[in-house]
Amino acid sequence: MNSASSPEFEFPFLEEGFSFRDTVEQKINESSRTDDRDAFYVCDLGDVLKKHLRWMRALPHVTPFYAVKCNDSRAVIKTLVSLGTGFDSASKTELELVLSLGVDPSRIIYANPCKQISHIKYASAHGVQMMTFDSEAELMKVARCHDNAKLVLRIATDDSKAVCRLSVKFGAPLKSCRGLLERAKELGLNVIGVSFHVGTGCTDPMAYMQAIADARCVFHMGDELGFNMDLLDIGGGFPGSDDAGPKFEEITDVIHSALDKYFPADSGVKVIGEPGSFYVASAFTLVVNIIAKKVIMDSTSDEEDEGAKEKPTDKTMMYYVNDGLYGSFLGSALDFITNLPTLYKKPKPDEIMYPCSIWGPTCDALDRIVEQCNLPDMQVGDWLVFENMGAYTVAASSTFNGFQRPGIHYVMSRPA
Ligand code: PLP
Repeated sequence: MNSASSPEFEFPFLEEGFSFRDTVEQKINESSRTDDRDAFYVCDLGDVLKKHLRWMRALPHVTPFYAVKCNDSRAVIKTLVSLGTGFDSASKTELELVLSLGVDPSRIIYANPCKQISHIKYASAHGVQMMTFDSEAELMKVARCHDNAKLVLRIATDDSKAVCRLSVKFGAPLKSCRGLLERAKELGLNVIGVSFHVGTGCTDPMAYMQAIADARCVFHMGDELGFNMDLLDIGGGFPGSDDAGPKFEEITDVIHSALDKYFPADSGVKVIGEPGSFYVASAFTLVVNIIAKKVIMDSTSDEEDEGAKEKPTDKTMMYYVNDGLYGSFLGSALDFITNLPTLYKKPKPDEIMYPCSIWGPTCDALDRIVEQCNLPDMQVGDWLVFENMGAYTVAASSTFNGFQRPGIHYVMSRPA
């Protein structure tokens, strides 16, 4: 590997003049020399570092608590530990992971409003105090199992313009918040703030404005009931790449205005966020190999006519690759990922492009990862590259049909 060591990070920086793209090519060349040609990831931890710098520039007063569920690779978490972020964990296993890396429990929020009792007990035993709730049943579990919980009321948002909506499942409507706060008071619980999530892949920056305004209302209710609320958690929903939708900075401009209006600096409220996709999506590139191919001839074309020149539209290709819906592409079924493959070798300018579909390796017919795209005539053994594959891929994949998860090669490009 062309790299030079860096004292701060476990993974070495790439040498000057050696780019991330060079690493992808190097790995493809290495793998092409073997028979295996397994799918693999290349992860640029330098991209995670760049995202952190971008977050700190745009939202210097909002502490990021990285959402572990988005990508729980140890190397990513370790990099973020060394950058000093906090963490949003959703389960006992995610709590264990960040605690095992030496993260102080005060830098963890257990941000799953519907928790298993044994997991709440684990949080209590390990000093994790901050946790979200959105129902009375949750309050009662916490009252029984956690003596020192610092509760954060998750409110529902208008996430109708998000790619993946979360408020269909989580978040108390504004009209139930007073009742929940009253119940928390009766149970002697400590509610320290409000959280929300505008949905993953939020395309409407104004969703943050409305959610922050709603959070202000809930703070008023808390004040009236005698809670000393001083934490606002603005959740995730930030874009993982600049390829589509509003830019990160367009969203953060709206957040600034909303915070100035509803939670000005002198309000004494600490603001945190739970970015997942933002930190990791663009850091991971997935390289897959074509393991099988079918050529479908258009039955309406005249195949018998030997003199006829082949038209590209006569043929449709089906390519089968060695990672799919049950592996890294669950997000494409859930609409998180819409990215199309790029080619490892650039096509020639006059190369004919054919309509094609791309399928995963399992025996399940649902396992289609690209419904329609145009590619040159590819062969079994050729490589396809998918960029922006860091969010809800590695962490969500299974080994259905015995297909193993792709290995991950980590590199660290230099920050500009
Ligand atoms: N916080 C919570 C509670 C979530 O459920 C999620 C995603 O499901 C996230 C943060 C991360 O969201 P995103 O990937 O949109 O940043």
